[in-house]
Amino acid sequence: MRDCDVVKMSKCFWCNGEKDELILLGNKATRKEQNEWCDNKSMSVIVSYEPCEKCKEEFDKGIQLIEAQDDPVTPKQPEISEGVYPTGRFWVIKREAFTDDIPEEQTFMFIKEETAKEMGLYEAESV
Ligand SMILES: [Zn+2]
Repeated sequence: MRDCDVVKMSKCFWCNGEKDELILLGNKATRKEQNEWCDNKSMSVIVSYEPCEKCKEEFDKGIQLIEAQDDPVTPKQPEISEGVYPTGRFWVIKREAFTDDIPEEQTFMFIKEETAKEMGLYEAESV
């Protein structure tokens, strides 16, 4: 193991902000992975889709509409669900805004980019 594999800060996938969480590359990593890890100049890496505190607060306000596509956005992107790759863009819609009853346990929905555009979500964002 090289010296650099100590700790790095993890980054939030959703806002690209620093998460208050240190991560450690475990011993199970292959040499190739270790090298990639060491050579990554950035001190932060995205390790999971777990939102940071700030995004989590947003997420908790309603149902998340997560923009996603069928193919990885960047090489080696892990899927969030089977064959679903989030783009990082999301909107949170209040539960009351839906006319259909949404089960309590449902907290998110995937949405395709075209649909998000059709729904005017992109414009809403820039307001
Ligand atoms: Zn975040």
